Amino acid sequence: MSEPAPYRGRFAPSPTGSLHFGSLLAAFGSWLLARRAGGEWWVRVEDLDPPREVPGAAESQLKTLAAFGLESDGPVLWQSQRHAAYQQALDELLTSGDAFVCHCSRSDLAATGGIHRQCVARRERSDPAIRLRVPDGTVVDFTDGLQGKVSQDVAVVVGDFVLKRADGYWAYQLAVVVDDAAQGVTDVVRGADLLDSTARQILLQRALGLHTPRYLHLPLILDAHGQKLSKSTAALPVDAKDPLPAIRLAWQALGQDIEALTTHQAIKPALAAALTNFDPQALPKVPSIGLAALHNKSTANAD
Ligand code: GLU
Repeated sequence: MSEPAPYRGRFAPSPTGSLHFGSLLAAFGSWLLARRAGGEWWVRVEDLDPPREVPGAAESQLKTLAAFGLESDGPVLWQSQRHAAYQQALDELLTSGDAFVCHCSRSDLAATGGIHRQCVARRERSDPAIRLRVPDGTVVDFTDGLQGKVSQDVAVVVGDFVLKRADGYWAYQLAVVVDDAAQGVTDVVRGADLLDSTARQILLQRALGLHTPRYLHLPLILDAHGQKLSKSTAALPVDAKDPLPAIRLAWQALGQDIEALTTHQAIKPALAAALTNFDPQALPKVPSIGLAALHNKSTANAD
């Protein structure tokens, strides 16, 4: 029997559009760290939220990743096929009393800024949500591989959080925890916009008796207005037909020496050089980087 991988990383895009530069950075960063550790890198399609999804986006993202030489070592898992696993986890949490049915509406929770601390529903709904109970004083501490020590009082900052939405869809927090465990992920490397979700995921792992992977959150790339690129109309297009400029910019955003990637004319040798030259210590230990700073740096380097 083969030994389980000592390191298994993953990249888990939501198919809400074509692959943008911010996603490429998370993909490339997680791939570099996995390969550097001699580990595997798996891709998961987080197609859980049909109202936000764009038809064909998942296929297009996978094709773009392949054009960048970033291909899953294991079978690609599609969250839309995983209802039974999420239901099983939810049933477990309902049985243990960690989860509860909640009839509160958005307006019921307006007085507490949308944070649920106790049920204040004024009427029964036909479509209640299911939440995880987060008792007072639930503080989660963890050490992020890049951002350092993090502490979140989940009861105060988040409150009882949704596992199954009132519209019937599964919440990201539940699905991500169930799937990271099912896929044997040892290392979660992703954008710093999800740093804030990590404490919730750790709480869920504890409630479900699952192992907590290591976490590392890469800096988010912000546009000139300080917006996350994916939300911005100016999101840098990632061109599958011409991957080198985007991979070089991502390499720089990861704090790496641009000289190492300047001469290659094809993506495979560029990736091989990236692996040889990758220095995890140089990853920027910051939650965000302005795109303008990157452009300035590459202009300065070109001189
Ligand atoms: N699907 C999430 C996103 O695209 C990422 C989930 C994760 O990496 O945990 O933002």
